[in-house]
Amino acid sequence: MSILISIYILTLGLVLGSFYNVVGLRVAGGQSIISPPSHCPSCGRRLTIRDLVPVFSYLFLRGRCRTCHQKISPIYPIVEASTGLLFLFSFLWTASIEEMLCGWLLASLLMIVLVTDLTEMMIPDKILLFFFILFAFFRIIFPLAPWWDAPAGAASGFIVLLLIALVSRGGMGGGDVKLFAVMGLLVGVKIVLLGFFLSTFIGAVIGVAGLLTGMIRRRQPVPFVPFIVLGMLAAYFFGDRLMAIYYHLLF
Ligand SMILES: [Zn+2]
Repeated sequence: MSILISIYILTLGLVLGSFYNVVGLRVAGGQSIISPPSHCPSCGRRLTIRDLVPVFSYLFLRGRCRTCHQKISPIYPIVEASTGLLFLFSFLWTASIEEMLCGWLLASLLMIVLVTDLTEMMIPDKILLFFFILFAFFRIIFPLAPWWDAPAGAASGFIVLLLIALVSRGGMGGGDVKLFAVMGLLVGVKIVLLGFFLSTFIGAVIGVAGLLTGMIRRRQPVPFVPFIVLGMLAAYFFGDRLMAIYYHLLF
């Protein structure tokens, strides 16, 4: 039974991941989500069901358009597979329906802003506003304990990021500040601050490694959202364990 549910949930995640690609690309590009139907950006050929099976179409077509053979961005299958696996992981790992849904919501927001950041280097306000309202409803139905942890999480995400954005003078963008405020509303103070700490830590480690190996040039703008994705998911799913290890080392 559990295996059947796992397959359903993985499929749901794959299909939603495919939808998140469309949402991210179209909202960042200022287009409608509904029309026109999906098409190849190079030759304009309308995509059929055979081209739209998450992950498998990309693998089957070896990453190229069926008609014009232009390369398809690997972002699509990566987001599809990540959403599917994160949905499944949240189902298997968390202790309650509420925590599982919270994991799904967090993963959904992160996958959409990953697409907008990697393609247009921006986090659209429309998407942040939509998720802010969705998360507010979710926390009214499933309040955190204490209930004010949700607004306090939003406020602390916003204030901490704003201070760092002001101090770093452009090292952190306005989109990042708002993104952490929205995520804080969903996960509360502790997880959002830990998530921010882990995001910058992972970003710094990979940044230094990139500079040392010559993969990244000095002053080259690097998208920050991939690190936010890793940091926030680590904080949400493993936060309690990470903090227990930290206190254990400290005292
Ligand atoms: Zn094409």
